[in-house]
Amino acid sequence: MNTTHPKLIQILVDQTPRAMIAMLLVSLAYFWSFMNYVPLPILSIWLFFQTLLAVYRVQNAKSFKEYLRKNEFKKIKRNEISFMVSNVFQAMMWTLSSILAITFAPQPFELVTFVMTIGIITAAALSMSSLYKAYLVFFFCMIVPQIIILSFFGEQQHTALLVFTVIYIPATILLSKTIYNSRLSSIEAHSDLEQSVEKLHKLSMIDNLTNIYNRRYFFEMSKNIISTAQRDKTDVALLMLDVDFFKKINDKYGHQAGDFILVNLAKEIEKTIRLNDIFARVGGEEFTILFNNTSLNGAKVIAEKIRRAIEVKPFTFEGVPIQITISIGLSELGTENNSIEQLYSIADQNLYVAKKTGRNKVAF
Ligand code: GH3
Ligand code: MG
Ligand code: MG
Repeated sequence: MNTTHPKLIQILVDQTPRAMIAMLLVSLAYFWSFMNYVPLPILSIWLFFQTLLAVYRVQNAKSFKEYLRKNEFKKIKRNEISFMVSNVFQAMMWTLSSILAITFAPQPFELVTFVMTIGIITAAALSMSSLYKAYLVFFFCMIVPQIIILSFFGEQQHTALLVFTVIYIPATILLSKTIYNSRLSSIEAHSDLEQSVEKLHKLSMIDNLTNIYNRRYFFEMSKNIISTAQRDKTDVALLMLDVDFFKKINDKYGHQAGDFILVNLAKEIEKTIRLNDIFARVGGEEFTILFNNTSLNGAKVIAEKIRRAIEVKPFTFEGVPIQITISIGLSELGTENNSIEQLYSIADQNLYVAKKTGRNKVAF
């Protein structure tokens, strides 16, 4: 009970109103069939309680929906118990209908209720198998009294029915178990698929070393941001940075140390950027930031802050502090630089200037 999958409960919730309508229809048919035999007051009281139960169970289904929406698992569990109890009551009502029929209706008329009971059990397999244990409780509460009644009124036809009922029990249980299993496995397959899609989507946009965006995502998103900025006439600036003499760092401290620096460099830069900016690794030790709503002057200030922060921060790998510097090139969206490719190319040219004129500097 405590591991009922929320989606299984959802199926149950979706099917309950239909099941209750069917149940009321059967109750009305029963009322009509036996109103000439069973005293009307008794029959009316019986129908009244059936209606009450149906209303209660629809209400119970609505509560499930509400608790599922709010993820209130304790209340879901409590609701499952009330669901079970109302089921037992329902089964008792049907048992009562059989007893009434046998007591008041002539032979072989009372057998109608037996057919009715079997029909209800089969229909319940469809509507209730999602809460398999609840179905089992319902099933036994329906079938056991029928067996007792039939054996108690032990005429030839009753005994024959009893024999068939007992033979059908395993098949009916198996049927509902199969429905339950197939629903569960299709839910599991669906959620596996959802997880894989999410994973793939993440893989397609994230750089697996630094966990920031990759080149592909950067260009894709930048295009959107630039077209929005052009429409709204707002500023966009691009920063491109490259680690100085990274080859030497790899040579001196090892490739692992190099990787460590890239990861921590990304973390360090991430601290300085805002939520709307796109920060990505576009090459081995090259990173870009697309600043949304930022002019070239604004970008210069941030770039200088980043350059300075890296210059003074040692990256300590296996106890050895490693000092690095970075060079930065900037560009700004304008009438001539109006695409991401142009912005990228200008920033790259400026980065080259920063490298040529001594490194550890910002060029624009
Ligand atoms: P410059 O100041 O001119 O940028 O010098 P540099 O040595 O950084 O420039 P270059 O582009 O020649 O070298 C970049 C080096 O970055 C080459 C490569 O060994 C290293 N590199 C690229 N990707 C990775 C990576 O994922 N991990 C590590 N550890 N090193 C990388
Ligand atoms: Mg490089
Ligand atoms: Mg470099």
